Amino acid sequence: MASNSNPKLRLYNSLGRSLEEFEPFVPGRVRLYSCGLTVYNYAHIGNLRAYLFADTLRRILQWKGYDVFHVINITDVGHLTSDADEGDDKVEAAARSTGRTVWDITRYYTEDFKQSLARLNVQEPALWPKATEHIQEMIAFARDLQAAGYTYELPDGLYFDTSKVSDYGKLGLLDLEGQQEGARVDSKGDKRNGSDFAVWRRSPEDEQRLMEWDSPWGRGAPGWHLECSVMSLKYLGAPFDIHTGGVDHRQVHHCNEIAQNQGAARGGDGSVRFWMHNEFLLLEDLKMSKSTGEFIRLQTVEGWGIHPLVYRYFNLMAHYRSQLEFSASGLIAAKTGLQRLARRVQALRAEAGELPWGHLLADARFTRGGAYDYVITSLAEPLDNDARAVLTQLDEALSNDLNTAAALAAVSQAVNESSLSPDTVLRLVAIAELALGLRLLDLRPEELNLRPGSATLTDEEVTKLVEEREASRKDRNFERADAIRDQLTAAGVEIMDTRDGTPTAWSWNPAIPIGD
Ligand SMILES: [Zn+2]
Repeated sequence: MASNSNPKLRLYNSLGRSLEEFEPFVPGRVRLYSCGLTVYNYAHIGNLRAYLFADTLRRILQWKGYDVFHVINITDVGHLTSDADEGDDKVEAAARSTGRTVWDITRYYTEDFKQSLARLNVQEPALWPKATEHIQEMIAFARDLQAAGYTYELPDGLYFDTSKVSDYGKLGLLDLEGQQEGARVDSKGDKRNGSDFAVWRRSPEDEQRLMEWDSPWGRGAPGWHLECSVMSLKYLGAPFDIHTGGVDHRQVHHCNEIAQNQGAARGGDGSVRFWMHNEFLLLEDLKMSKSTGEFIRLQTVEGWGIHPLVYRYFNLMAHYRSQLEFSASGLIAAKTGLQRLARRVQALRAEAGELPWGHLLADARFTRGGAYDYVITSLAEPLDNDARAVLTQLDEALSNDLNTAAALAAVSQAVNESSLSPDTVLRLVAIAELALGLRLLDLRPEELNLRPGSATLTDEEVTKLVEEREASRKDRNFERADAIRDQLTAAGVEIMDTRDGTPTAWSWNPAIPIGD
């Protein structure tokens, strides 16, 4: 009786710009592709927002009972310095400017990217395909496009003729006529339409590129858009369920993927059911971008004393389709929120005793019908009405286009709900954790107390001073106690005095060098 009361998952589809009820092509199974990083540099925190979004989507699909097959590609060739297909290859440019080999560069940044995602508790995808390992398949795909009459050759490579596909740019709501108008003005025997793009880029006669392969169109390298068409369709088939990426991919990269899939008779805009895009992270009104010079990595943020899971929480506080202002006050609010939650869960665990955590989570994840049905129907101890209300609140929030902020609010409320037993609250937390990925069950509040890189005292020195201050207070040497307090405050340490004689708790204040 309970199973028909939980709402269907509704997701915002960029193709058509509306909320739609989600149903996978194969019952119970979801095939998901996320555009990966171009590994010529570190991922900045704006890039990471895209993978936190994709991971949250995946977790919520799992919450709803779907088995998810997730692919994130690695772009290690073909992405030019301008997304509009101009300039140098990003990886080659990085190799030239650093004197390292392209292979060293891509290996190093791929590893760093994967480690950053792991620290954010992003689940490993089933596959990480690399562009350079799919060159022959890309050539075969481009051949199909050519044979079907969708391409033309120019001195610098093979181009896709976007006027040959119906509805080109539908996803990006592109004003194609305007574009073609513009292209007509400046085209001098080059591209036929302003929106046409390179499928294969031929190396210049007099220059040897660092990464190049033989092809029917001469030695060269594949276009960036071709890579994602080939890798997504190879591993997920056509049609597949969901393709994600940053909102900056909606105008060009993803429109071009659709055009190619259509041209190679691999489903067209029907090749992917849902196109989903996350909005930008804003840093003082600048789009987070490697080209602005404001380059903030996860490691940078950790150096300020912000734990990666706090950054995850910060992202969950906003909706993925809203622009998110990166601010000191926002990060501090996230730290406070997560720390409070972790403390509360720890206290509840001390009260509740042993619970079969792993068993509970595994069962919920693999129950057809999802976490909601699992909790309602499978627990030995049925939930009372108050607990059921929390669960419904959670399910409604998550099912409504991933409203993580409302889900966090529901969890924060539940952990302080006196009418629920510790055991029941912890079961609810365990279930919510499936969707939130904050390690809520085993996260120790002390883990979040990261020492800022700018701090002049070590953790041990702070502990010693805190103890000395307590001793001074006991000896009624208030002058010394106050002096120590001032010293600690100046060093960025916050002291939480307790009344009941337990040792004084302290924590680092994050040192965040950005404004609000
Ligand atoms: Zn892509």
